[in-house]
Order: sequence, then C-alpha cells, then structure tokens
Amino acid sequence: MTGTLQRPQHVAPPATARRLPRRGRPLVVDLLAAAAGLGLGVTIALGVSAQSLASVGTVAGALTAVGRMTGLLAGYAMIVTVALSARIGPLERAVGQDRLIRWHRRLAPYGLYLLLAHVVLIVLGYAALAQTGVLAQLWALVLTYQGMLGAVVGTLLLLLAGITSYRRARRRLRYETWWAVHLYTYLALLFAFQHQVQTGASFVGHPLATAWWTALWVALLAAVVAWRVLLPVVRSLRHGVRVAGVVQEAPGVVSVVLEGRRLDRLPVAGGQFFQWRFLTRGAWWQAHPFSLSHVPQEHRMRITVKDLGDHSAGLASLPIGTPVFIEGPYGRFTADAATGHKVLLVGAGVGATPLRSLLQDLDEHADVAVLLRGRDRGSLVLADEIAREVQRRGARLWEALGPRDRLSVTAGTLRRAMPDIAERDVFICGPDDFTAAIAAACREAGVPASRVHFESFAF
Ligand SMILES: Cc1cc2nc3c(=O)[nH]c(=O)nc-3n(C[C@H](O)[C@H](O)[C@H](O)COP(=O)(O)OP(=O)(O)OC[C@H]3O[C@@H](n4cnc5c(N)ncnc54)[C@H](O)[C@@H]3O)c2cc1C
Repeated sequence: MTGTLQRPQHVAPPATARRLPRRGRPLVVDLLAAAAGLGLGVTIALGVSAQSLASVGTVAGALTAVGRMTGLLAGYAMIVTVALSARIGPLERAVGQDRLIRWHRRLAPYGLYLLLAHVVLIVLGYAALAQTGVLAQLWALVLTYQGMLGAVVGTLLLLLAGITSYRRARRRLRYETWWAVHLYTYLALLFAFQHQVQTGASFVGHPLATAWWTALWVALLAAVVAWRVLLPVVRSLRHGVRVAGVVQEAPGVVSVVLEGRRLDRLPVAGGQFFQWRFLTRGAWWQAHPFSLSHVPQEHRMRITVKDLGDHSAGLASLPIGTPVFIEGPYGRFTADAATGHKVLLVGAGVGATPLRSLLQDLDEHADVAVLLRGRDRGSLVLADEIAREVQRRGARLWEALGPRDRLSVTAGTLRRAMPDIAERDVFICGPDDFTAAIAAACREAGVPASRVHFESFAF
C-alpha cells in the first residue's frame, strides 16, 4: 500500500534541540597517519629481524627473504585497506567516506601485487633451495605446509575481489554481485592471518611479534564490528525507523517519509546520507545510500529517490510501516564544511536532494544563492520547496533549464550572475560530468579548490 503525507509537516523549520554530528578534526587524520607509518616501520623491522646475513647470501635465500617481506607488507597493506573502509567514525567525519573509499581503491591493488610477489618469490626461493621444479615445489608447499590450503583459498578470494573491482569489470557487474564477492574478503583475510602466524618466519617462535600482529588484526576486527555492525544495530533499534509514507514528487521521483523515536537525537547534518536497508521480503539484504532531503524533526525525516534501477524503483511501493535498518550518517557535504558565510548551492536533477537538507542547516544570516539545473521545470526535484526556503531567507535562486547540449554553465555565466562568486563556498551535487564541469567553471571564476565541495551519487 502506498501512503501520502501532508507536505507542511515536512517543511517546518528544524527543532532547535537537534543533535548534530561532531565536527571532523584534522588532528585525527594526522594521528592515524602517524600510527599507520609507525605500524609500517614495525612491520618492516619484524621482517628484517627474521633474516640473518648468512641466510640472504644465496640466490635461494635472497628470494625467500624478499618473499617473506612482501608477505608481511601485503598483510599490512590489507589491514590499512580494510581500516579505510571500516567506517571509523572520527575518520569518516574528518576525511569523508568518498575520499576514504578512493584511498581504499588506490591502496588495495598494491596489497594484491605484494601478495602475488610473495607467492612467486617464496615458491622460487624454496624450489632453488630444494633444487626441484617450480610446479613440484608449489604442489609440495600447498599439500605439506600447515594452513596452506586456507592461504590458497584466501589468495584466490582476494584476487577475485580485485578483479571484480577493476573498473571495467565493475561496470558490467550488478552492484549486489560485486558486494557479495567483496564480503568474502573477510574470510580471505582470516585465512591470511592464520597462515602468517602459523608459518611466518617472523612469528614462529617469536611470541612478542605474534602478539603485536594479533593485536593489529584484533583491533581491525573490533573497528569493523563496532562501526559497521554494532553502531548501526544500536541506532536502528534505538530509533525504530519505519516508513511513514511515500510521496510522488515528479515522474520517477518519490520521497520516502520515515518516522521513528527521537530522530532529532540522531547525530546527522543536512547533506549527509545513510545506507538504508528496507526490511521487506525482497529488499532486506540490500543497503543503498540515499541522502536526507529533510533533516530529522522530532519523529520524522525524509529521503527523495529517483528511479534508476530495480531497488530505487521498488521504493515507490514500499508498504507503510516497513521497518528500516540504518547505517550512518556519512558524508562531509555539510554546512560546517563552508569556510565563510557566502554560499552557492548547485544541484542537477535528484542532486537537489542533499542541497535541500543542507539549506536547512545553513546559518540564518548566511548569504545563500541556489542554482538548480534540469531539462525542464518538471525535472527539477523539490524545486517548489527549495524556492520557498530561498524566498524565506531572502536568498537568490536560478533555474537553468534546457537540454544538456544547449545549456552550459561557464565561469563567465557564474561571474555575471554572481560578481562575488570567488568569495563563495560552492556545494555541487549532480551527475559526475555536471559536477566536474561546474567545479571547473568555479575554479576558473576564482573559487579556491578548497571551497568547492561536492557529493557524488556514483558508485
Ligand atoms: C553518497 C550517495 C548518496 C546518494 N543519494 C541519493 C539520493 O538522495 N537520491 C537518489 O535518488 N539517489 C541517491 N544515490 C544513488 C542511489 O544510491 C542509487 O541510484 C541506487 O542505489 C541505485 O540502486 P538500484 O538498484 O535502484 O539501481 P541499479 O540499476 O542497481 O544501479 C544504478 C547505479 O547505482 C549504483 N548502485 C546500486 N546499488 C548501490 C549501492 N547499494 N550503493 C552504491 N551504489 C549503488 C550502481 O552501481 C549503478 O551505478 C546516492 C548515492 C550515493 C553514493
């Protein structure tokens, strides 16, 4: 059953006692970067201390020594890679999930290269030492060494995750398939850890080194469980979020109104997003990111979704009362990212969604300008609501309507419309090519890169 809601309920000003997320602290990033550097140093020291000069004096010894070191470094790279995507709260607030995921994607291939180097070098080193063929040595290693079968399975799972994350492969895969493959990497990492402490030269007979390595992995596991599982479970249970209604906003665009207990106590800012898991029979196993299109009031909040695929299309027929599991909030597309009191918000299509809630959090005295872009007025999302808010603030609103190939926003257009554009913080949300074009136009018009903020809906 699809329900409707009286719109005025959702456009009232936010309650003053609303809880906001803590500000991101750059110090957190510095401290964690220093800890990661220190961890790398200790890992290298562990690898070096497991070798003797005599042992690296032969080709076989040198190959084995470098193979062991690459194995250790692969393990360490994987710890950091997983930590970057563990949704660690203070890190998320300071850096932002999009940037953390970019770092995760950049680092992950190096862990795999090191892992492959480890396999090749160890097999070559052992084969040279035993003076046997490479394949015979590989076979002997797999069959006779403790925990080696697990290590082989783990390596294959990690390679699969790497291959399916490769840009071209990922584009062809359904998101859910990619996600399921990625989930297996946790099993792979468990095998990798077991293999290292059971057979690694740096660990066998070295209780202190084993304790350090175990502590690192346990800390990582604790972070993943705390931030990716426990916190979302606690928040979902505490607030008991449910679907209160679904409102058609435009063709193919619906707002889902959500109700729950004391939603104003959720530490979320306008412009942020949650991962939403709607607990219906067909959708409970998928979590999708959607930005808030209205900040929480005491018992209500809202998202606005464009039908882009099977899941988003299905939201139009969500039954009222559907329980919702929430993970988040995430994102740094928030009012406190602005460095001054002059702001320009630019949104295209459904990209207006986070701008609507961000607008609610901007200081009452902020000098606000809004630019909405769409093919025609019907394709502008939440345009009337934004227009009312802009009017209430005495702010300025432009609607740039027309087909993409006929209408482009350039540095000149921006300067003419806003002579003080260079003094503004600019928040952009829309398709990636649109965001890139507006960001480039803003920079050309004199806006420093640090004042251009964007949210990408692309995965
Ligand atoms: C930070 C962020 C905020 C977003 N906010 C909004 C919003 O406020 N309103 C809105 O309409 N859309 C938003 N999106 C986009 C929205 O998440 C996708 O359109 C939706 O998940 C598509 O799922 P689908 O099954 O309907 O479509 P599909 O056809 O399965 O996918 C369409 C596209 O969405 C990507 N996608 C699918 N599932 C996921 C997922 N679970 N996580 C990430 N990407 C996925 C796919 O890779 C593909 O590129 C946001 C995306 C991100 C990353």
